[in-house]
Amino acid sequence: MRVTVIGAGVVGVATAYYLSLDGHDVTVVDSNPGPGEGTSFANGGQLSYSFSDALGSPEFVRALPGLVFNRDEGAQVSLSPGLMLWGLRLLRHSSRKQSDRLSLETYRKALHSNELMQALRERTNIEFDYFDSGKMISISGADAIRRADNTIRLKNQYGCDNVILTGWEAAEIEPALKAFSELPDACIYSPGDQVGDARMFAASLSEWLTSNTSCQFIYGESVSRLSTASGRINAAEVPSGSIESDAVVVCAGTGSNALLRPLGLKLPIRGMRGYSVTLPAGEHAPVTSITALAQHFVFSRLGNRVRIAGFADFLNECDDRYIRQRTDDLIRVARAIAPAAADYEADEKHRWSGVRPMTPDSQPIISATAVNGLFINAGHGMLGWTLACASGETLATLVREGAES
Ligand SMILES: Cc1cc2nc3c(=O)[nH]c(=O)nc-3n(C[C@H](O)[C@H](O)[C@H](O)COP(=O)(O)OP(=O)(O)OC[C@H]3O[C@@H](n4cnc5c(N)ncnc54)[C@H](O)[C@@H]3O)c2cc1C
Repeated sequence: MRVTVIGAGVVGVATAYYLSLDGHDVTVVDSNPGPGEGTSFANGGQLSYSFSDALGSPEFVRALPGLVFNRDEGAQVSLSPGLMLWGLRLLRHSSRKQSDRLSLETYRKALHSNELMQALRERTNIEFDYFDSGKMISISGADAIRRADNTIRLKNQYGCDNVILTGWEAAEIEPALKAFSELPDACIYSPGDQVGDARMFAASLSEWLTSNTSCQFIYGESVSRLSTASGRINAAEVPSGSIESDAVVVCAGTGSNALLRPLGLKLPIRGMRGYSVTLPAGEHAPVTSITALAQHFVFSRLGNRVRIAGFADFLNECDDRYIRQRTDDLIRVARAIAPAAADYEADEKHRWSGVRPMTPDSQPIISATAVNGLFINAGHGMLGWTLACASGETLATLVREGAES
């Protein structure tokens, strides 16, 4: 089949990979000038297979007043009717039972994604600053430790190998923690988690696909419309013409709704803005990736660089000045915690901001639609890099099943 994938982020390129392995003639089209230049560009880099917790939870509900009144530096919120409606849907998924169920569901997908990532690396041998780093989530306070213990018990029943370490035990594994301004009370340690540069992955995999399969990439062209005939998709319209297609897969992240709405489809995707700064590694840069849970950011070591990424803003508008201010905030908070982790004074600070495509139940939308031949693979929220391989493979299976039926 001729399959058009809209979006060359990590999700779109991974989807193109599995579709190409199935023998389809795949065309990937993106409005950006190259692959991985949307939300995948400079994300946290964590392949966070063991930390799959849903956003909605009783802890989130307790933190809500602080978030709504902007008392949490790591999360700024501009309330709007649309956000409030979406927030109500999120609250419906925030009971303990729902939150545990959804976190386990993501964990199951993440485990599969890990297996697929290893197979993909073996098959393609692509470079993307991949590192088998392990991950530590620093937590403080008896409540947070008790809560972490419960979640770990739940996931470990399904084969997860997370453990809780004291700050000292964690520092034996990751000596850079000794150079933090304070040792954390405790760390959730996931030895099997990894890091990699998502943009490099998208770029290297698209090169591999171009050289080894019939997949082709079109950049700098925005899909303005999806054409149908007799209830079946038949083309994606771009300024230079029509891309004739037997199937179309929308992997357009936060841009997915704009494409689908004219066909009467509306996804519950809301953008949650985050930021990153990439700096040269400091004298005591951690090798293990570290998440500072209470401050909502991560340190990831990508080759000789350190990426500091995080924060969670629900905003209506955001300009360059605001991004500058938020990345300054990120640097200040990170520096206070880990003064020697990065060269904070470096002239070359790569500042970036991207918008996570969030869903109220923290599950990506991977499905066929009421329009024959039209598929969706979007809404991966905080974990699109982690879930890209499993999502791409699942979507390719749906296309295959659609073709067979
Ligand atoms: C600060 C931050 C840190 C993060 N850290 C992590 C992390 O450590 N681990 C993790 O797993 N995830 C992380 N994430 C989440 C992850 O980056 C996203 O879930 C993921 O990038 C989503 O990928 P995507 O391919 O769906 O979207 P994108 O990368 O945004 O790709 C969508 C593409 O579609 C294209 N597009 C949209 N509309 C059109 C159109 N009409 N025509 C043509 N092209 C179109 C866009 O140009 C874009 O390139 C983080 C996100 C942020 C913001």
